[in-house]
Amino acid sequence: MATDDETQLPDEVARLRQRLTQLESLDTSANEHAMLCAAEDLAQLGAFVWNASTKQATWSDGLRRILGISPDTVTSADEAICLAHADDRKRLYRLARLAVRGSEVKPTDFRVIRGDGTILHVIGHLRAVFDEAGALSALQGAIMDVTERRRLESQLLHSQKMEAIGTLAGGVAHDFNNFLQVIEGHADLIRLDPTVPRKTLISVEEISKAIERCQQLTQRLLAFGRKQDGTPTLNEVHSLVGATARMLSRVIGDDVELKLIADPHPCTIRIDPVQFEQVLVNLAVNARDAMPDGGTLEVRVDQIDLGPETSTPLSLAPGMYCRIEVRDTGVGMTESVQARVFEPFFTTKPVGTGTGLGLSTAHGIIHQAGGAIRVSSTLDVGTVFTLLFPISASEQGLARAVVDSRDYPTGNETILLVEDGEDVRSITKDQLERAGYTVLQAPNGETALDLANRHSGPIHLLITDVMMPRMSGPELAGRIQAKRPATCVVFMSGYTERLVLRRTALRSDRVSLHKPFSMQELLTCVREQLDALRQT
Ligand code: ADP
Repeated sequence: MATDDETQLPDEVARLRQRLTQLESLDTSANEHAMLCAAEDLAQLGAFVWNASTKQATWSDGLRRILGISPDTVTSADEAICLAHADDRKRLYRLARLAVRGSEVKPTDFRVIRGDGTILHVIGHLRAVFDEAGALSALQGAIMDVTERRRLESQLLHSQKMEAIGTLAGGVAHDFNNFLQVIEGHADLIRLDPTVPRKTLISVEEISKAIERCQQLTQRLLAFGRKQDGTPTLNEVHSLVGATARMLSRVIGDDVELKLIADPHPCTIRIDPVQFEQVLVNLAVNARDAMPDGGTLEVRVDQIDLGPETSTPLSLAPGMYCRIEVRDTGVGMTESVQARVFEPFFTTKPVGTGTGLGLSTAHGIIHQAGGAIRVSSTLDVGTVFTLLFPISASEQGLARAVVDSRDYPTGNETILLVEDGEDVRSITKDQLERAGYTVLQAPNGETALDLANRHSGPIHLLITDVMMPRMSGPELAGRIQAKRPATCVVFMSGYTERLVLRRTALRSDRVSLHKPFSMQELLTCVREQLDALRQT
């Protein structure tokens, strides 16, 4: 006969089985929860459900993580909407009203402000759930953090914009250089005429100065489009800073005062002036951004003798340095920001306004010039960037070459001149003929080949533009030299070296004449080439 215990056994087994199933399902749902959390974390996702009857919202761990809300904080739906950027809130309320009315709401971009103040870019999805009677039972939503993606997109956009401006700048600079070439050429010819009165010569000198300023403008256009490698030259720092001052005051605007303070000793450094200007402009742009309510930007220039103790931490050799301090009275930086400012792409500015390339470019340029840059900053007091450049002992090259017309090199050889720009061709021909050469001229490669075939005498030198329609300068040179191996070639170009290289596979160091060139440069180059040929 069965005891009481035995009759109770099947019940107990059934109870245990039921408990086991319960535990198993708990385990599965714990696993699923862990998986969902991991997926949210991986995809930078967050979700919420707002219950229409309890008016309570439930936030997923991912959403709390994105918004920076701790797990124990209870946040109402209204408080949560306040985490959205003020400019986006109205739109979000409108979309919620649409969803509640049963309309489909498309995914939308908006910004949220985290507890620590950082602004995130997110894509939000929202839908309403209705019960069988058609009454609203819940609102379900999900957001995806796309801040990093937006940052990369804006960087790409920026570099595409720079590329487009660079192409435009290159084109404008090319045409502009041709005009400068013609003006400079005629100015040179007037200088040669002994009957020209002194008053006219003074005017011609002014024209030349204006041309020089235009050339600097062209260089700036090209540097802006990053179509130009730096050309370091010896420069006096006070005049470099002085030349940039106008640009700086334009950059900083009216409510920031610009102060230039310089010790009286001139100091010469070796740097590309355009790149130097770029460095100061980048620093001024940052200073302006750090002083939204105005302030002072001070640029101080002096000299400093760096001993081994001061120079070693900066990786500089001991010696005399030109020190430029750029000081603002702006918001300053925390230590962690200061530690990263020279990193490429490091920016604290909102997406679309900062690229994080200003200071890294400045750093690169200064180091290329053998110098160093360092930063020191105090929150709410301001920031000082200190630039150090080795002082060049040699002062050569500073004085503008004074050209005496009697010094122009001359010759009597025959030159084939090929240039598609009529004005440039005409002035170059005049200058060559003035110097005694016989000039055959052609506007393009085909005509030049034809002329060379029909010309019975020697052609000592071919001067050709690099970029020409239909037949490029290098191709023409190859074809002429195939028939006349003794003819030497001078390439001239208005394009920057990199552009020439890219489009014609011509080595940049083979371009001897960069437009606009002076009569002195033209005739010196021609004589050098012809003399070199004679010696071989
Ligand atoms: P961007 O200006 O595009 O952000 P930069 O490389 O020029 O890139 O600057 C990097 C960061 O350094 C800035 O986002 C800013 O946080 C900080 N910074 C640079 N200059 C200053 C300054 N004068 N005052 C305060 N912060 C600055």
